[in-house]
Amino acid sequence: MRCLESIAYLFPRIWRTLARGPQTVAYPLSPIDLPAGYRGRVHIRAELCRGCGLCVRDCPAFGLELEREDRETFRLIYHPDRCAYCGQCEESCNFGAIYLDNDFVHGTFNREALIEVLVDRKRTNK
Ligand code: SF4
Ligand code: SF4
Repeated sequence: MRCLESIAYLFPRIWRTLARGPQTVAYPLSPIDLPAGYRGRVHIRAELCRGCGLCVRDCPAFGLELEREDRETFRLIYHPDRCAYCGQCEESCNFGAIYLDNDFVHGTFNREALIEVLVDRKRTNK
């Protein structure tokens, strides 16, 4: 008797669930809507970067590195494998040069391949 009660209880619910279709996100088979303010990979507006190093100084995860040769010659390097996606670099930059967007697809088996030179500024009158 209890078995019949259980079936009577479960069957409509199972049917409703099947009729509704999947409730989870089908990503990567379909696009995914990310919430506003999602913090993904770090990007740069290279022309705005002054090489001041504030973003490097304030990064809590050593995700950024500044190689400076002189005032005009520097490289700003990003290490996504260390990045905590906290957004502090964007907060710290006084020039609006560095920012995070919703780019989150960057998986690889090779950590070195993730490293990106964001700015490679060379002195123009050498
Ligand atoms: S998002 Fe945070 S952890 Fe990543 S580079 Fe910027 S400051 Fe560093
Ligand atoms: S991104 Fe901004 S804070 Fe970082 S070095 Fe460039 S100008 Fe300075």
